[in-house]
Amino acid sequence: YLNRQNAMESQVRSYPRKLPLAIAKAQGCRVTDVEGNEYLDCLAGAGTLALGHNHPAIIQSIQDVLASGLPLHTLDLTTPLKDAFTETLLSYFPENYVLQFCGPTGADAAEAAIKLAKTHTGRANVIAFSGGYHGMTHGALALTGNLGAKNAVNNLMAGVQFMPYPHEYRCPLGLGGAAGVDALTHYFENFIEDVESGVVKPAAVILEAIQGEGGVVTAPVKWLRKIREVTAKHGIALIVDEVQAGFGRSGKMFAFEHADIQPDIVMMSKAVGGSLPLAVLAIKKEFDAWQPAGHTGTFRGNQMAMATGLATLRVMKEENLPENARVRGEFLQAALNDLKAEFPCIGNVRGRGLMIGIEIVDENQAADRTGAHPADPALAVAVQKACFNNKLLLERGGRNGTVIRLLPPLTLTHDDCVELLAKFKQSLADAIK
Ligand code: PMP
Repeated sequence: YLNRQNAMESQVRSYPRKLPLAIAKAQGCRVTDVEGNEYLDCLAGAGTLALGHNHPAIIQSIQDVLASGLPLHTLDLTTPLKDAFTETLLSYFPENYVLQFCGPTGADAAEAAIKLAKTHTGRANVIAFSGGYHGMTHGALALTGNLGAKNAVNNLMAGVQFMPYPHEYRCPLGLGGAAGVDALTHYFENFIEDVESGVVKPAAVILEAIQGEGGVVTAPVKWLRKIREVTAKHGIALIVDEVQAGFGRSGKMFAFEHADIQPDIVMMSKAVGGSLPLAVLAIKKEFDAWQPAGHTGTFRGNQMAMATGLATLRVMKEENLPENARVRGEFLQAALNDLKAEFPCIGNVRGRGLMIGIEIVDENQAADRTGAHPADPALAVAVQKACFNNKLLLERGGRNGTVIRLLPPLTLTHDDCVELLAKFKQSLADAIK
């Protein structure tokens, strides 16, 4: 089978092209390939599978839709299922929010959010951050920082101003820790005051409260609060992209909740559809500038995704999965930090909940002013390959792909964590051999 897969490689573009893996089945945190090998899945559909693979509640919800005779496609018309989903999703927001279904993917949410902010403010420019990721469509890609994929495309959406994102380990200003965060917070505030007194005023600021693809960089609470304060002062829409960090992954329902702020527009996708494609915006009512039909699109009424999304929200509440993510995440981060003594190539362990990044460095090269050693892209690739050989699926991210990323299902148990750590430790040992 794998030989046939190789032959097909030239016909179907695939992103992990050379991974000798064809998946036969999956359950919970486990994936089994066509040869019967079992892997611990710490990628979980890039964070989509909050309940893991084929959770009984997800399967049941799909079967219930099929048995009920509900239309699978309803354009934008409502159904009792859509009402139940809407009501449940809105219960996670204060009363002054409305929902906008905007298509199947996270990029659809980005496009809709920017369009809405521009409509609401009548302004054109958008501030985005280095290392940020918002999708691959024309507008979303323009808002995405530090990504090779942009280089091949000329003339992406104009009017995007990139600003540095605070990084406590690799601060772009070369100032480590709190000093770097303070400097960037100050810089952001001054920048906004300057542009607000000029002619090119921004419509929106778009950010992830924890950058995922950018290498699991957690925005400091202080910085997020300042951004909220300054954007509110000038009527700039604050768009928070919760496509990856949302739905319990960070240890709270949404990652912005760690800073106790209320964004004007919240982007949701991945876990919101509980395994199936769905993208939704939550919009503060005063930013809800669209007239009826101001934002349409054929595939916004995916009943099956609403059923699986509703099942996800129910299980998440019943089993308090955000709390599980917090507890397992703290355990994993502590254990990974303990591994540093034995494996000094672990430069930094970071993230929140079950969104963890492990930056791989070359400890034989001198540290910079911030105390960080240079990143080691080749070793990071070797660690990922060793993990695959040890039956641990995970992804890399960050500049040059030097951050190993853990995004397991939120149902991860303590025993799964122990197994994950053993496999990771073995893989580090294999990679540095
Ligand atoms: N925003 C964030 C934070 C993401 O992580 C992603 C996907 N990795 C997207 C947007 C884009 O989502 P999609 O791939 O579904 O378009």
